[in-house]
Amino acid sequence: MKKWDAIVVGGGHNGLACAAYLAKAGKDVLVLERRHVLGGAAVSEELYPGFTFSVCSYVVSLLRPWIIQDLELPKFGLEILPLEASFSPYPDGRALCRWSDPELTRREIAAFSKKDAEVYPEFGKAMSRLARWAKPVIDAPAPRPASLNPRELKGLLDFGQRFRDLEAVDQEGLAKLMTKSAVDLLDEWFESDQLKAPMAVSGIIGTFLGVRSPGTAYVLLHHYMGEIDGAFRAWGFAKGGTGMVSDSIADAARHHGATIRTEADVDRVLVERGEATGVVLSDGEEISAKAVVSGLDPHATFLKLVGPDHLDDDFLTRIRRFKMRGSSGKVNLAVDRLPEFSSRPGDGPHLRGDIAIAPSIEYLERAYDDAKYGDFSRRPYLNVVIPSLVDPSVAPPGKHVISCFVQYAPYSIKEGPEHWPERREAFGDAVVDTLAEYCPGLKESILFRQVLTPWDLEQDFGLTEGNIFHGELSLEQLAFQRPAAGFAHYKTPIPRLWMCGSGTHPGGGIMGAPGALAAKAMLQGSLLGRSL
Ligand SMILES: Cc1cc2nc3c(=O)[nH]c(=O)nc-3n(C[C@H](O)[C@H](O)[C@H](O)COP(=O)(O)OP(=O)(O)OC[C@H]3O[C@@H](n4cnc5c(N)ncnc54)[C@H](O)[C@@H]3O)c2cc1C
Repeated sequence: MKKWDAIVVGGGHNGLACAAYLAKAGKDVLVLERRHVLGGAAVSEELYPGFTFSVCSYVVSLLRPWIIQDLELPKFGLEILPLEASFSPYPDGRALCRWSDPELTRREIAAFSKKDAEVYPEFGKAMSRLARWAKPVIDAPAPRPASLNPRELKGLLDFGQRFRDLEAVDQEGLAKLMTKSAVDLLDEWFESDQLKAPMAVSGIIGTFLGVRSPGTAYVLLHHYMGEIDGAFRAWGFAKGGTGMVSDSIADAARHHGATIRTEADVDRVLVERGEATGVVLSDGEEISAKAVVSGLDPHATFLKLVGPDHLDDDFLTRIRRFKMRGSSGKVNLAVDRLPEFSSRPGDGPHLRGDIAIAPSIEYLERAYDDAKYGDFSRRPYLNVVIPSLVDPSVAPPGKHVISCFVQYAPYSIKEGPEHWPERREAFGDAVVDTLAEYCPGLKESILFRQVLTPWDLEQDFGLTEGNIFHGELSLEQLAFQRPAAGFAHYKTPIPRLWMCGSGTHPGGGIMGAPGALAAKAMLQGSLLGRSL
């Protein structure tokens, strides 16, 4: 039987990035993806004739520039089209749009608060300084605070030195970011609710927390990290849909010799004499390899593919405690005309960015209240994009795709998660009703609708509890604790079994960094993991 150098379980963009780096280093790599299409949560699919949807993730911001360069992704079809604006309509008929042009933004904010208009650029600069400071953390393996290895100690010293080098005001800012809620942080800077609410939502995306929950300020920083390489314009759509990120990485991997199979559902990892030796597919096929690397989340990897028998109780407890608890859903629409916002009618550039339905802090807190007590938000926070305006290739002429990211949709509804299918259409209705309050003709324009609940994200995409980031991005689950202390460097307690998905450092989002850093760790080898 053929023995591969490495089997990558899961053809999400991180699994593919891991495979591409391993193949580029000359390793004989096989990727096994359960679905008929590659990409996992970074996927494009034609769900309705002529309309291509970015089914799950919809904007690209954190994809690491060094990965784009190393794998020559533009050569394999990757093109990022910039987002122009952030638009927020309000129920009273007013609206606020933040543009890439600072002067235009200043004028828009001044209509709500002159003070906020003056402070806004200062806030952006402070966040960008801190994001620039924090950014090296997402481009390198997590620090090992308990290690006495001289290289690790030097890394920690450098980290401390970089903190000392920050201005006092930024040291204080960083401490606040690590501990405060998004709203508490924004309250220190701004007075108008209309500005604070659409800014605060960046702190809650993918978490089961409210905008007033401590810890959400940090997630704002994560958001700013995506914006600093090319300022505001670093946010964008992948031309052809988000799946083009994955497809271009897959083509790079193939170019370097990797083999990729779809419709290959891995049932379990083979563990013999305590080491990973291959996988068994659900149809019984056995495939051997010198190393197995899982691009699935920590729960799926250890509790399903490996199974408790091969793991000690302490490690199992830590993995079970790793919080998944999905809180988001998605509604994708095909429409026969552009939505018209009553607060700013017409086909203007304000529709070419992201649109936040987050009219006030109180609205967001009420949305969270529904979720806390086991229901989806009756009036949810929506992050809406219309990619067909920027990339006409994804819809027929004159028609459009609308993507609505929705929060909150808790995995554990009070009836039990398995009852989500009965609630799915009611959830979809709540989303469409909410958007239609701002765009009156919306309902009549809908040709097709796809509703994804956290249950669907689990069933269809393998995301445990529908968590979009393979585990919450809360501080206690980051860096050297992701997914468990002592196992934050892509290794697992089982020699020759590795991890490379978003449940590892530096976490979720379309970054590619977990996959690329995992491959580098595998190639360097290590005591526990055994080098390739
Ligand atoms: C609704 C939604 C919206 C999002 N929006 C954004 C956004 O706009 N921007 C952003 O940056 N991030 C966004 N994210 C997060 C981002 O998409 C994910 O963090 C990232 O794509 C995860 O990539 P991954 O490769 O680590 O894992 P996944 O994409 O989860 O890949 C894992 C792969 O493993 C496969 N698999 C599962 N089980 C098996 C098995 N037994 N055998 C073989 N294969 C298996 C799955 O099918 C999947 O292809 C969003 C996510 C979701 C769900």
